[in-house]
Amino acid sequence: MLVSLDLHTHTICSDGTTTPAENVALAVEAGLTGIAITDHDTLDGWEEAEQACRRAGLRFVPGVELSAEDDTASVHVLGYWVDPADQALREECDRLRNERAHRARRIIELLDGLGVAVDPARVERIAGEAPIGRPHIAQAMLEAGHVGSIDEAFERYLADRGPAWVVKHAVTPEDAVRLIRGAGGAAVLAHPGLRAAEAAAVDLIDRLLAVGLAGVEADHAGHPAEAVAYWRGIAADRGLLVTGSSDFHGTRKEARMGAATTPPAVVDALRGRADAAVAAGGSQSW
Ligand code: AMP
Ligand code: ZN
Ligand code: FE
Ligand code: FE
Repeated sequence: MLVSLDLHTHTICSDGTTTPAENVALAVEAGLTGIAITDHDTLDGWEEAEQACRRAGLRFVPGVELSAEDDTASVHVLGYWVDPADQALREECDRLRNERAHRARRIIELLDGLGVAVDPARVERIAGEAPIGRPHIAQAMLEAGHVGSIDEAFERYLADRGPAWVVKHAVTPEDAVRLIRGAGGAAVLAHPGLRAAEAAAVDLIDRLLAVGLAGVEADHAGHPAEAVAYWRGIAADRGLLVTGSSDFHGTRKEARMGAATTPPAVVDALRGRADAAVAAGGSQSW
């Protein structure tokens, strides 16, 4: 058994294609000892995952991937053990959900103008209860035969600053970290290596460190080996924890469950950071 946890996975509660219980079953299959559920801007998958983990004897780490924006790109901040009752966090998740619905309508209008007709009702059905994300729109484009893959939908139309890209309101990365800490959680910068500009990501890490960032997801399945080493070095220089994950999205992304993982000692240290956030006046950790 791999004594290790996958600390970043998505479910149908956001833009993944598997249920929380299915994620847990896949974690068992991959020989992991624990799993985090980190859906975009929602905590809806926690209960089901927690129960499945209890039955399977896995450690459950409750998480969320908050959508933030800075001047140049979208920034994802992972929050672990946040208090679901925290009012500020709930309000931000609600705001992001509304903003996503709004943005989806505008993206579909832009696509229409580009000759790519997508049925808004189909997109809503694909998303179901989840906050609508670009992967749901990409799925509808794929079904309608406009593109041959989800990746192609992003490359040709949906990528940040692409022809059908629409800026969405979001918190600043600093406020995302503050929200997470205020809710008694530990904040980790997701996949820094997926950003276009390396220097901008280092600058971002320094800004987030000042407001209480706990870790950096250096070991992301989408990072090439050199990037993993580079971001590990950046984290080590700053005393930040290093997490690893697959960023599993079911069939909407290639990475398999457990493709990258985090050792239990790092998870314990992260938990310590959440406890410190509570001691500093944050809400009660989950
Ligand atoms: P959104 O939350 O609507 O901004 O969409 C962001 C999500 O789209 C990310 O979490 C990824 O799952 C997915 N995504 C972003 N860029 C790409 C890409 N180039 N190819 C495939 N999926 C992507
Ligand atoms: Zn996603
Ligand atoms: Fe992300
Ligand atoms: Fe993610």
